[in-house]
Amino acid sequence: MSRVLKYPVVNTDITFNEIPDKMSYAIELGACAQHCVGCHSPELQDENIALTPLSDILEEAQDAIDAGANAIVVMGGTNNKHITDESLIYLLHKLSWIAPTGLYSGSEDEDRDKMIAVAGGCTWLKTGPYVEALGGLESIHTNQCFYHITQTYRVDGHNNVVSISPCFLDETHKFWKRVKNVT
Ligand code: SF4
Repeated sequence: MSRVLKYPVVNTDITFNEIPDKMSYAIELGACAQHCVGCHSPELQDENIALTPLSDILEEAQDAIDAGANAIVVMGGTNNKHITDESLIYLLHKLSWIAPTGLYSGSEDEDRDKMIAVAGGCTWLKTGPYVEALGGLESIHTNQCFYHITQTYRVDGHNNVVSISPCFLDETHKFWKRVKNVT
């Protein structure tokens, strides 16, 4: 399956802004069908975009990590033409083997975002559509949430692990550190 998968990659970049305290290799996916009012990046809605093979995406991500980046973030994918839940999970899963990976989703369906992020082995998840009046993660009024995903283990009386479940720690406040007078 992996050999035929292709994705609408618009940009890649190194960023210090998307994952707190990390230098992230960002993969920006286009053909976004979310159509948020006041979209911060309208070019990402263009459906006529060349598709990039999975193997190329993984190779470039590995190069970025080898050059010093210490995280990967996938921007979009939960409501984009050319991408299914299955293909997004596959991409995230492959990237998570290279470095800790985050998913930035603009979807309104937080439960689905969480399912995709966990299935893809993600370490972080940003979920929620962009609402111009509320602002993005850096706004203390934002509707969006940024989660650090960890795992909780339940053990029996013999210390055998009987279940593992994801734990979503809300770290949205980390984006507010440059905002003064936040209490
Ligand atoms: S999810 Fe992001 S790229 Fe897509 S329409 Fe909304 S703001 Fe624009």
